[in-house]
Order: sequence, then C-alpha cells, then structure tokens
Amino acid sequence: MIIDAFEFARKGLVASGSVALQDLPRLDVLERSGSLHWQIDGCRDADGKPFLRLAVRGQVVLACQRCLEPLVHDVALGAQLFLARSEQEANELPLDDDEFDFIVATPEVDVEALVEEEVLLGLPLVPKHARCVDEAAGDGQAEIALRRRASPFAVLAGMKKGGTR
Ligand SMILES: [Zn+2]
Repeated sequence: MIIDAFEFARKGLVASGSVALQDLPRLDVLERSGSLHWQIDGCRDADGKPFLRLAVRGQVVLACQRCLEPLVHDVALGAQLFLARSEQEANELPLDDDEFDFIVATPEVDVEALVEEEVLLGLPLVPKHARCVDEAAGDGQAEIALRRRASPFAVLAGMKKGGTR
C-alpha cells in the first residue's frame, strides 16, 4: 500500500492491513507462512509537525542463537515517525526524545517497506530462548542447576514478605 505521508498526517487518516512475511524478504525468519498486522495513523504534534504513528503486531519465528531451534518472537511495536522532506530538515527536528524517530518522506511512502524496516529494527540482535530445549531435556546436572536458580517470582515473594515484617 502506498500512502502520501504528508496528506495522511494533515487529514488525520487511519489505515490498517496485513502483510505476508513472504513479502518481507529482509526479515531473517525461519517461517514465512504467517503475516503481520499493521495500523498507521496520521497525526500532528502540538506544534503542528506531521508524524505517523505505526503499530505492528504478530509473530515471527527466529532461530535461537544458542540452540538453533525455532523461537517464536512476539512483534508488538509502536513507532512515532516524524516526517521530514529532506535529510537537512530531519536534522533540524528536535528529536532528543527516544520515542520518536523520523523518516524522510516523499509524497509516496510504501507502508509495507516501512513495516519491514521498523520490525527489522525491533528484532532482538541475538535471539535466545529463555530456556533452550536441549537444556530442559539435558543431563541431570543441567536440570539440577536450573532448578536451583531462583525464579524472579520467588525472589519477589520473598521481598514482599520482608516488607510487611
Ligand atoms: Zn534455544
């Protein structure tokens, strides 16, 4: 889908849709059968500067970098993209806030390409299972070590108990 980003922001337009992972070749995923859902809102900030709010949801299957088995990664990102007409204008935007990013917008912005770019930026650099399959099914030694590791919830419960004393 191609939108005019500036018109989108000026008129406060909203659009949503899905894009097949097959059409996002830059994403390094193990499974290409799924799709991602996106929504884009045209907005203006308090000073009238145009920006797009992009939300992307779905799941991608990555390769765990520890055990190389599939790892399901939830995509749930929200990006606020200021629109600049040139690199120079982009550099002049006050972007000390980390929540905002910018894109150099031409009259035609390809939403699928934008979704691909944002998802790519949001993926973990080194995807890893919290607990790999081979560790879970591994030898007794590894299993004992894992059981000894206190769960964060147990630690939290302990802290709460201490607090009420
Ligand atoms: Zn793993």
